[in-house]
Amino acid sequence: MKIAYDEKLSLLHLGDDHPMRGDRYQRAVRRFRELGLEFELENFSMASEEDLLLFHTREYVERVKEISERGWPDISPDTPGFKGVFEAASWSVGATLKALELAEQEGIGVNLAGGWHHAFPETGRGFCIFSDTGVAIAKLKKKGLKVMIVDYDAHHGDGIQRAYGSDPQVITVSFHQDPSTLYPYLTGFLEETHETNLNLPLPPLSGAEEVLYAFSHLVPPLLEKHRPDFLIVEMGVDGHCSCYVANLSISKRGYLRLGEALGEIRYKYDIPMALVGGGGFVYPHYADCWALQLAGIQGRSLDLELDDCPGGRNLGRVKELVARAKSLARL
Ligand SMILES: [Zn+2]
Repeated sequence: MKIAYDEKLSLLHLGDDHPMRGDRYQRAVRRFRELGLEFELENFSMASEEDLLLFHTREYVERVKEISERGWPDISPDTPGFKGVFEAASWSVGATLKALELAEQEGIGVNLAGGWHHAFPETGRGFCIFSDTGVAIAKLKKKGLKVMIVDYDAHHGDGIQRAYGSDPQVITVSFHQDPSTLYPYLTGFLEETHETNLNLPLPPLSGAEEVLYAFSHLVPPLLEKHRPDFLIVEMGVDGHCSCYVANLSISKRGYLRLGEALGEIRYKYDIPMALVGGGGFVYPHYADCWALQLAGIQGRSLDLELDDCPGGRNLGRVKELVARAKSLARL
């Protein structure tokens, strides 16, 4: 398994006290080595402006360039501007485009520094500057491919839903903490579900049992129904109970099982799969949860305490939500 990686990813440093620190990726890779995960690193190039414009408006791209030169102002209240922000964000988009290429060549590709699902075409927001997955989907669409994106980061993938939620060539699927209790607050509700866009809001404190029930009852039927050519997975790990940006309780065993479920999908459907890191900010837990997913895909495990977050208390409620989502998505 190859991971698109370069030290330039550390340029995406939103501040010493900001959760999105530049050393997230270097620390993760070091931890992967300690844990004995099997992987190789692959170099990549920065995304071109032409690539960025596949998703973003020219006005916004120019605005980020100006902020990048001056070092101010902020991009949005929660997304700082800094000197070099244009290049930093473009490198991370380049890494996701490399993950696509690896997926096309070898079946699977990974970029830990990706999954910026809150960015809109006209502005960055929610720690997200450029939408790497938005650009990736646009590139795949240009090739005529049908794309499915499955996002189980703790937050709703609102930027992706807004851009592609009603596009018949893109199936957008998001499992996340109920947005009436968490950012982005305005979208991500079950009622927005239709045939090619599915939201499954998990009540706060939901854990492995809930997310695995939802994933296993919804993702395989969606794949069967829509038969996409390419799968993008936002494997965000801010749903682990250590992570202070959300209130979910997904255990390390839960992330291992999600990885195993992806491994089964890969085997059964023979579909190219690009994985992007998304959120997760408490070391070593975020690195462990990423590593377990990547090990799970490979049919392996790692020597770690797996039952660290309690779950299951909302399983009854989630079963009801899944039944309603199935009906809205006509599954
Ligand atoms: Zn998140």
